[in-house]
Amino acid sequence: MPGETERPQRDLRSTAKLKQLMAGHFHELADASMTGVRKIAWCTSVGPVELLRGMGFLVYFPENHAAMLGASRMAVESIPHANAIGYSPDICSYLTSDIGSFLRKKTPLTAAYQIASVPRPDVLVFNTNQCRDVKDWFAWYAREFQSPLLGIHTHRELGEIREYQVSDIARQIEEMVPALEEVTGEKLRRDRLEEVVSLSRDTSLLWKACLEMNASFPAPWTFFDATIHMGPAVVARGTRESVGYYEALLEELQERAAAGIATVTGERHRLYWEGMPIWGKLRSLSEQFSALNASVVASTYCNSWIFDQLDPADPFESMARAYTELFIVRDEAYKEQYISRCRDFYQFDGILFHDAKTCPNNSNNRYGMPERLMKRLGIPALTINGDLNDLRCYSEEQARTNIEAFMEQLEEAT
Ligand code: SF4
Repeated sequence: MPGETERPQRDLRSTAKLKQLMAGHFHELADASMTGVRKIAWCTSVGPVELLRGMGFLVYFPENHAAMLGASRMAVESIPHANAIGYSPDICSYLTSDIGSFLRKKTPLTAAYQIASVPRPDVLVFNTNQCRDVKDWFAWYAREFQSPLLGIHTHRELGEIREYQVSDIARQIEEMVPALEEVTGEKLRRDRLEEVVSLSRDTSLLWKACLEMNASFPAPWTFFDATIHMGPAVVARGTRESVGYYEALLEELQERAAAGIATVTGERHRLYWEGMPIWGKLRSLSEQFSALNASVVASTYCNSWIFDQLDPADPFESMARAYTELFIVRDEAYKEQYISRCRDFYQFDGILFHDAKTCPNNSNNRYGMPERLMKRLGIPALTINGDLNDLRCYSEEQARTNIEAFMEQLEEAT
């Protein structure tokens, strides 16, 4: 229920700083790509960025670019170009929209930052902890640019994590070092790696603290805000800029919570979002929930960039642990327990499952989880059919109607 002092306020003042940081990130990459002054590594979003940054690379994340394609709705025109060269419309629409945009030579970086193209990779590094698609995606670019491709193959569907699994991943990360040294022409410096791991951990802890502010009533921000503000946790973790950014954001969220300022007016219901965002529909979904006085207070997606296991005293083992203990790597029982813990913490009264047509890896509704969680937690769940980037898989009208009916159900239960 709304607090007495509650005041709605959509915009966060940190947004200006966010825009500055993201622009700096892309311009630095574009300059390096043009001049060759710094080596560029492409990395998956939950890959070993600390090692790459610690070895002096600038790091570019194709998934972040793909999310921009989704948010700008350029994905829909790009996907058929990848389909035409044999990449199925049924596989990851990040992959198809990103490769398609490269083929048609159109990137959202142009409108946002006046940058003509994605940066040229000197090396590409993937981690299959999230899916196999990232390997195929990076392999395509490795062939295109004739650049070396390195990767980590992670154990999946894990319940309890076993030491041999962590050591295996740590060795795989370590074994990449000689190949990376060949690209940089420099030996790995342990002190630099430790510093980056430490900054990455600090970023994670601050990001976690920002997300946890939504335990407050009313929630000072929502999942839809967080999908935008998580940019630095993805592309700039391991830098001082990301630490500074989240210190400022946390301060702002603390002020909002203390003053009862919320994104959603008259918060009557609190929801959890499970699955990928629907990038091209963030605004309309956010507005619909807001009009229904519902805050989406937490999500698996935004929580997935919390790597508090990182430890500068033990960089390889701790990177291995951080990238193996991830939600997406785990089995159904672990995932249910995780969401149940989130329920205790954030006190939400309903769960939204996004069944993303082209991402089975991040769609957890397909093996009975909503039904089991409804029974376990005694709260309703709704599945929204859609996709992260391919809006042809999403019916706005159907989603709106289903959400309205779901909210009526919640209202009746109040
Ligand atoms: S996890 Fe899903 S969205 Fe992410 S790269 Fe893999 S298939 Fe694509």
